[in-house]
Amino acid sequence: MRVRIHRGTQEIGGTCIELETEGARLLLDLGLPLDGDLSDTASHPSIEGLAGDSNLLGLVLSHGHVDHWGLAPLAGPDLPVALGAATLRILQAAAPFVPRPYVPARPIEFTNGSSVQFGPFRITAHLVDHSAYDAHAIEVEASGTRLFYSGDIRGHGRKAGLFEKMLSHPPKDVDVMLIEGSSFGRLDPDRSFPAEAEVEQRFVELFRQTKGLALVAASAQNIDRMVSLYRACKRTGRTLIIDLYTAEILRATENARIPQSDWQNVAVYVPQYQRVQIKRAARFDLIERHRTNRIFAEQLFEIAPKSALLFRPAMLDDLKHAASLSGAVAIWSQWDGYLRQDRGLALVRELSSLDIPIEDAHTSGHASIKDLKRLASAIAPKMLVPIHTYAPAAFLDHFDAVALKHDGEWWDIPA
Ligand SMILES: [Zn+2]
Ligand SMILES: [Zn+2]
Repeated sequence: MRVRIHRGTQEIGGTCIELETEGARLLLDLGLPLDGDLSDTASHPSIEGLAGDSNLLGLVLSHGHVDHWGLAPLAGPDLPVALGAATLRILQAAAPFVPRPYVPARPIEFTNGSSVQFGPFRITAHLVDHSAYDAHAIEVEASGTRLFYSGDIRGHGRKAGLFEKMLSHPPKDVDVMLIEGSSFGRLDPDRSFPAEAEVEQRFVELFRQTKGLALVAASAQNIDRMVSLYRACKRTGRTLIIDLYTAEILRATENARIPQSDWQNVAVYVPQYQRVQIKRAARFDLIERHRTNRIFAEQLFEIAPKSALLFRPAMLDDLKHAASLSGAVAIWSQWDGYLRQDRGLALVRELSSLDIPIEDAHTSGHASIKDLKRLASAIAPKMLVPIHTYAPAAFLDHFDAVALKHDGEWWDIPA
């Protein structure tokens, strides 16, 4: 088997790996570069036969983050796309609400531990802990060699048990491991990230200090975070107010332990911009589906001091009209880089003009360097190739058997 990483040997985002053996090819991830655009042809990897009719047998998506699937629409509709069953449902649920929806036309669903055969390639999915729900590491066996791709992974979220289990029962006889290295250059090698449970505790403390509405900016698709938020609300007697998009994403998990729109302590508020989206997509059934705990602007005013609202900047106009912002706090619970971009800076100014302070409560979706080392030594591959990192050379100081590769080059897996 030979391997070509199209993007990711020197950067985070746009991950795409091409495999070839016995006259057949397979792709692992087909992501959008960070700040990239699907219409920008310069960002498209040169993959033969992507549009159809070739020896390219399929695309395997590790998880539902756009830096891993955002260029998948470039593939022809006939290309089978293997992905987690919940990841598929989440893509479907998000479709009416996002500017560039993507749902594969020929999906092959997998769950933890299941295998899919594509010609000579046998892939096995391993559920992992990450900030995206239903994220998987992918094991590929073909022509007597074995490749293990970590995908995006961490060991400090709500599914940390999966990480520990992988350490105690690692895949065996791995020839090449592609290992993500997001934390290099961002985190001191000896330090750890806060656990997701600590983020929940931080929410609890901030909610207790706050007299008014807590505006929590977090990704609805970060299901671990939604659980932290719900639990913190419950512990402090606050109602969690979600929008229709979030209600749909939570439903799509089909997981009885994940908070849902009809649970006690949960309310659904449909902001003006989502009413427009629903009308445009003619999806009034979604409002119907989540009507049990629906509230309107007048009720928002009443329950604000005893609530936490999953916040998006586009909601500010609704909130100003509902005049429910007295004593409010904004809690930034996602990547803080956004706050340094133009739109983020504008939001900071607007919150400041409304006398709303900004606090933070967050942890990384990616493993600390200490955890990456534990993972690599448990799997003990013959060759370790960094991917999804801005600092590949740093691996040389911390790991054994490191081989640095370049984007676009083919290389062989030593048999
Ligand atoms: Zn990810
Ligand atoms: Zn990623």
